[in-house]
Amino acid sequence: MSHIVVIGAGQAGASLVAQLRKNGFAGSITLVGAEPVPPYQRPPLSKAYLLGEMSAERLFLRPENFYGEQEIDLWLGQPATDIDTRARTVTVGGKIIAWDRLVLTTGAVPRHLPAAIGGDLEGVFAVRTLADIDAMAPHVAQGARVLIVGGGYIGLEAAAVCARRGVRVTLVENAHRILQRVAAPETSDYFRALHRDHGVDIREGVALDRLTGEGGRVSGAVLGDGSTLAVDFVIVGIGIAPSVALAATAGLKIENGIAVDALGRCSAPDIWAAGDCASFPWRGGRLRLESVPNAIDMAECVAGNLLDAGVDYVPKPWFWSDQYDVKLQIAGLHAGHDRVVTRQGEGRTASFWYYGGDRLLAVDAMNDPRAYMIGKRLIEAGRSADPALVGDPGADLKALLQP
Ligand code: NAP
Repeated sequence: MSHIVVIGAGQAGASLVAQLRKNGFAGSITLVGAEPVPPYQRPPLSKAYLLGEMSAERLFLRPENFYGEQEIDLWLGQPATDIDTRARTVTVGGKIIAWDRLVLTTGAVPRHLPAAIGGDLEGVFAVRTLADIDAMAPHVAQGARVLIVGGGYIGLEAAAVCARRGVRVTLVENAHRILQRVAAPETSDYFRALHRDHGVDIREGVALDRLTGEGGRVSGAVLGDGSTLAVDFVIVGIGIAPSVALAATAGLKIENGIAVDALGRCSAPDIWAAGDCASFPWRGGRLRLESVPNAIDMAECVAGNLLDAGVDYVPKPWFWSDQYDVKLQIAGLHAGHDRVVTRQGEGRTASFWYYGGDRLLAVDAMNDPRAYMIGKRLIEAGRSADPALVGDPGADLKALLQP
């Protein structure tokens, strides 16, 4: 095996090529990215970078000379357009690259509002790439009016940054509560109150009917309840879709993303996938995670397996979100829970513990790193936590770790 080609220069692709070298792979490595910049971190984009507190250079995952020193050939600025699984080639910008093993780390793309309801007007921004944020940044100014469409983490983190900048924020969420897809009502209630305390106008259970414009620029919005808003710009955070077009055209199996086996192998020989774009076997079904920790862990696992380590990928899901002075840390996955226990600390310190029967499934901890750490250790060890102790703010959580 002499040439490994990795398509997609996001977090997963960058982690994977670095890990290949760390594992001692001495063959050729090519990393192909559609964006014109080296791999960078996305989480700070809509926070420190948008606020002007972090430079573009500091976003880059590795210093410029890393790829040269590691003999990793970076092809930037052009997407791969075609995979030939028989000839074992991939086409990038009209050039054909031969591979011995191919890895797809193509990530995900934001869902856009349809053009028919004004999604293509100027002044409507997604939050995914450096270019998205560079285009949006000049609008995030004191006194401007923004409509944020979608009350997931993208929408809420953007709302927090805009509010801090003195932008007047209205956020509209289709579902009957914010964070409905990813959290229990307790967490939605917590963040609704936090945002309202910062002056954000949150409207739930209301769809966006259409955006209206003047001279091709967005200037207003009509909501499903008939209300209208005047706006200066719009931020869209209505979810992401795995980037599977290249894989699908190559005939690879797609099932909520590019379907891989436990080792990370796709349905055609010598093609692998990792990160946001890939769904892997999980508890009798399939799981696809949209998160930085998953992108890193899965990529590193697949890098080992490309060199025949033979290790199944077992995710240890965790997430985080920063909004105002609140750090949310999440351990585990809450799907299948039937009960939530609240542990209320002082002020904004709180944690919500999700149980399915007796089993502890997940913990959402707000400004409570201790609850997060203990919850994570218990979940990863397959252990539960006495709900009576969890719910008693006077009880020491450390007791939960005792055998
Ligand atoms: P998301 O979690 O899917 O949330 C999008 C929300 O927008 C959903 O509640 C959705 O409701 C709503 N929505 C959809 N269409 C709408 C419409 N036309 N009008 C109003 N609301 C609408 O996705 P996201 O916030 O865009 O984030 C993208 C991905 O990045 C997610 O996986 C997210 O978890 C991840 N991310 C994570 C972090 C973090 O961990 N800190 C930060 C940023 C992003 P319905 O479900 O009812 O359609």
